[in-house]
Amino acid sequence: MKKGKLFVISGPSGVGKDTIINEYLKNNEGMLSISATTRKPRKGEVDKKDYYFLTKKKFEKWIKKDNFLEYATYNDNYYGTPKSKIFENLDKGIDVFLIIDVQGALQIKEKINESVLIFIMPPSLEELEKRLKNRNTDDENMIKNRLKIAITEISMSDMYNYIITNNKIETSVDKLKMIIENEKN
Ligand code: 5GP
Repeated sequence: MKKGKLFVISGPSGVGKDTIINEYLKNNEGMLSISATTRKPRKGEVDKKDYYFLTKKKFEKWIKKDNFLEYATYNDNYYGTPKSKIFENLDKGIDVFLIIDVQGALQIKEKINESVLIFIMPPSLEELEKRLKNRNTDDENMIKNRLKIAITEISMSDMYNYIITNNKIETSVDKLKMIIENEKN
Protein backbone atom coordinates (compact mmCIF):
# COMPACT_ATOMS: atom_id res chain seq x y z
CA MET A 1 0.00 0.00 0.00
CA LYS A 2 1.20 3.52 -0.82
CA LYS A 3 2.14 5.55 2.24
CA GLY A 4 0.60 8.95 3.00
CA LYS A 5 2.63 12.15 2.64
CA LEU A 6 3.53 14.62 5.33
CA PHE A 7 2.73 18.23 4.37
CA VAL A 8 4.11 20.98 6.57
CA ILE A 9 2.39 24.36 6.23
CA SER A 10 3.85 27.58 7.62
CA GLY A 11 3.23 31.26 7.18
CA PRO A 12 2.84 34.35 9.33
CA SER A 13 0.09 34.46 11.92
CA GLY A 14 -3.06 35.89 10.31
CA VAL A 15 -2.11 34.90 6.75
CA GLY A 16 -5.05 32.48 6.46
CA LYS A 17 -3.25 29.14 6.56
CA ASP A 18 -5.79 27.42 8.82
CA THR A 19 -8.65 28.51 6.55
CA ILE A 20 -6.89 27.21 3.43
CA ILE A 21 -6.13 23.78 4.95
CA ASN A 22 -9.58 23.42 6.47
CA GLU A 23 -11.20 24.29 3.12
CA TYR A 24 -8.98 21.73 1.38
CA LEU A 25 -9.82 19.03 3.95
CA LYS A 26 -13.58 19.59 3.45
CA ASN A 27 -13.31 17.88 0.06
CA ASN A 28 -10.13 15.83 0.31
CA GLU A 29 -8.84 13.12 2.59
CA GLY A 30 -6.17 13.94 5.14
CA MET A 31 -5.49 14.29 8.82
CA LEU A 32 -4.80 17.67 10.41
CA SER A 33 -2.51 17.20 13.39
CA ILE A 34 -3.59 18.89 16.62
CA SER A 35 -0.69 20.71 18.26
CA ALA A 36 -0.07 21.30 21.93
CA THR A 37 0.59 24.79 23.27
CA THR A 38 1.05 26.71 26.50
CA ARG A 39 -0.69 29.77 24.96
CA LYS A 40 -4.05 30.65 26.52
CA PRO A 41 -7.10 29.69 24.42
CA ARG A 42 -8.59 32.48 22.31
CA LYS A 43 -12.31 33.13 22.45
CA GLY A 44 -14.10 30.17 20.85
CA GLU A 45 -11.10 27.83 20.86
CA VAL A 46 -11.77 24.36 22.21
CA ASP A 47 -9.29 22.14 24.08
CA LYS A 48 -8.25 18.98 22.16
CA LYS A 49 -9.88 20.36 19.00
CA ASP A 50 -7.94 23.54 18.22
CA TYR A 51 -4.98 22.70 20.44
CA TYR A 52 -4.11 20.64 23.47
CA PHE A 53 -3.90 23.56 25.87
CA LEU A 54 -1.24 22.60 28.43
CA THR A 55 0.42 24.24 31.40
CA LYS A 56 4.14 24.92 31.05
CA LYS A 57 4.80 22.15 33.58
CA LYS A 58 2.76 19.59 31.62
CA PHE A 59 4.34 20.65 28.31
CA GLU A 60 7.79 20.14 29.78
CA LYS A 61 6.69 16.73 31.05
CA TRP A 62 5.62 15.80 27.49
CA ILE A 63 9.06 16.94 26.24
CA LYS A 64 10.75 14.65 28.79
CA LYS A 65 8.52 11.77 27.77
CA ASP A 66 9.61 12.33 24.13
CA ASN A 67 6.00 12.87 23.07
CA PHE A 68 6.86 15.52 20.45
CA LEU A 69 8.00 15.12 16.87
CA GLU A 70 9.13 18.75 17.11
CA TYR A 71 8.53 21.72 19.38
CA ALA A 72 9.49 25.37 19.43
CA THR A 73 9.01 28.59 21.38
CA TYR A 74 6.96 31.26 19.64
CA ASN A 75 6.01 34.59 21.22
CA ASP A 76 7.04 33.28 24.68
CA ASN A 77 4.92 30.15 24.47
CA TYR A 78 5.71 26.54 23.68
CA TYR A 79 4.11 24.91 20.63
CA GLY A 80 4.66 21.26 19.68
CA THR A 81 3.50 18.44 17.42
CA PRO A 82 2.53 15.28 19.33
CA LYS A 83 3.98 12.16 17.68
CA SER A 84 0.99 9.94 18.30
CA LYS A 85 -1.20 9.18 15.29
CA ILE A 86 1.11 10.80 12.71
CA PHE A 87 3.02 7.68 11.64
CA GLU A 88 -0.04 5.53 12.15
CA ASN A 89 -1.94 7.62 9.58
CA LEU A 90 0.97 7.85 7.13
CA ASP A 91 1.29 4.06 7.26
CA LYS A 92 -2.43 3.76 6.49
CA GLY A 93 -1.89 5.83 3.35
CA ILE A 94 -3.46 8.98 4.80
CA ASP A 95 -1.79 12.36 4.20
CA VAL A 96 -0.95 14.29 7.34
CA PHE A 97 -0.93 18.10 7.61
CA LEU A 98 1.01 20.08 10.19
CA ILE A 99 0.41 23.82 10.52
CA ILE A 100 3.53 24.90 12.38
CA ASP A 101 6.07 27.70 12.53
CA VAL A 102 9.34 27.94 10.59
CA GLN A 103 11.53 26.55 13.39
CA GLY A 104 9.27 23.49 13.66
CA ALA A 105 9.15 23.00 9.89
CA LEU A 106 12.94 22.87 9.68
CA GLN A 107 13.08 20.28 12.47
CA ILE A 108 10.56 18.13 10.57
CA LYS A 109 12.52 18.42 7.31
CA GLU A 110 15.64 17.23 9.11
CA LYS A 111 13.86 14.23 10.62
CA ILE A 112 11.62 13.32 7.68
CA ASN A 113 13.36 14.25 4.47
CA GLU A 114 10.45 13.28 2.20
CA SER A 115 8.11 15.77 3.92
CA VAL A 116 6.83 18.63 1.72
CA LEU A 117 7.17 22.19 3.04
CA ILE A 118 4.65 24.80 1.87
CA PHE A 119 4.84 28.47 2.86
CA ILE A 120 1.73 30.68 2.76
CA MET A 121 2.78 34.25 1.99
CA PRO A 122 0.69 37.38 2.66
CA PRO A 123 0.16 39.70 -0.36
CA SER A 124 2.01 42.40 1.66
CA LEU A 125 2.93 43.28 5.25
CA GLU A 126 0.32 46.06 5.21
CA GLU A 127 -2.35 43.54 4.29
CA LEU A 128 -1.15 41.16 7.03
CA GLU A 129 -1.34 43.93 9.65
CA LYS A 130 -4.87 44.75 8.48
CA ARG A 131 -5.94 41.09 8.78
CA LEU A 132 -4.42 40.75 12.27
CA LYS A 133 -6.24 43.89 13.41
CA ASN A 134 -9.54 42.76 11.86
CA ARG A 135 -9.24 39.37 13.56
CA ASN A 136 -9.60 41.20 16.86
CA THR A 137 -7.97 38.43 18.88
CA ASP A 138 -4.73 40.08 19.96
CA ASP A 139 -3.82 43.38 21.60
CA GLU A 140 -1.65 46.05 19.94
CA ASN A 141 1.56 44.72 21.50
CA MET A 142 0.92 41.15 20.46
CA ILE A 143 0.16 42.27 16.89
CA LYS A 144 3.45 44.19 16.80
CA ASN A 145 5.28 41.06 17.96
CA ARG A 146 3.51 38.88 15.42
CA LEU A 147 4.50 41.29 12.62
CA LYS A 148 8.10 41.25 13.79
CA ILE A 149 8.08 37.45 13.76
CA ALA A 150 6.40 37.54 10.31
CA ILE A 151 9.35 39.43 8.83
CA THR A 152 11.79 36.79 10.11
CA GLU A 153 9.54 34.00 8.86
CA ILE A 154 9.20 35.53 5.38
CA SER A 155 12.98 35.83 5.17
CA MET A 156 13.22 32.06 5.70
CA SER A 157 10.58 31.12 3.13
CA ASP A 158 13.18 30.21 0.49
CA MET A 159 13.83 27.00 2.43
CA TYR A 160 10.35 25.79 1.55
CA ASN A 161 9.49 23.56 -1.41
CA TYR A 162 6.52 25.73 -2.44
CA ILE A 163 5.23 29.23 -1.78
CA ILE A 164 1.55 30.18 -2.15
CA THR A 165 0.71 33.89 -1.99
CA ASN A 166 -2.70 34.10 -0.39
CA ASN A 167 -4.60 36.80 -2.26
CA LYS A 168 -7.85 34.90 -2.43
CA ILE A 169 -8.73 31.79 -0.39
CA GLU A 170 -10.32 29.80 -3.26
CA THR A 171 -7.32 30.34 -5.54
CA SER A 172 -4.93 29.34 -2.76
CA VAL A 173 -6.93 26.15 -2.07
CA ASP A 174 -6.75 25.28 -5.80
CA LYS A 175 -3.00 25.85 -5.79
CA LEU A 176 -2.59 23.68 -2.70
CA LYS A 177 -4.59 20.93 -4.36
CA MET A 178 -2.36 21.08 -7.45
CA ILE A 179 0.79 20.88 -5.32
CA ILE A 180 -0.53 17.87 -3.38
CA GLU A 181 -1.63 16.03 -6.54
CA ASN A 182 1.74 16.69 -8.12
CA GLU A 183 3.62 15.44 -5.05
CA LYS A 184 1.57 12.25 -4.85
CA ASN A 185 2.26 11.22 -8.45
P1 5GP B 1 -1.20 30.84 17.08
O1 5GP B 1 -0.84 31.37 18.45
O2 5GP B 1 -1.51 31.96 16.13
O3 5GP B 1 -2.25 29.78 17.13
O4 5GP B 1 0.11 30.14 16.51
C1 5GP B 1 1.33 30.81 16.49
C2 5GP B 1 2.32 30.10 15.59
O5 5GP B 1 2.65 28.82 16.11
C3 5GP B 1 1.79 29.85 14.18
O6 5GP B 1 2.82 30.15 13.25
C4 5GP B 1 1.47 28.39 14.19
O7 5GP B 1 1.54 27.81 12.90
C5 5GP B 1 2.59 27.87 15.07
N1 5GP B 1 2.32 26.54 15.61
C6 5GP B 1 1.12 25.97 15.89
N2 5GP B 1 1.30 24.72 16.31
C7 5GP B 1 2.62 24.47 16.29
C8 5GP B 1 3.43 23.31 16.59
O8 5GP B 1 2.96 22.25 16.96
N3 5GP B 1 4.77 23.46 16.44
C9 5GP B 1 5.36 24.61 16.03
N4 5GP B 1 6.68 24.62 15.88
N5 5GP B 1 4.64 25.70 15.72
C10 5GP B 1 3.29 25.63 15.85
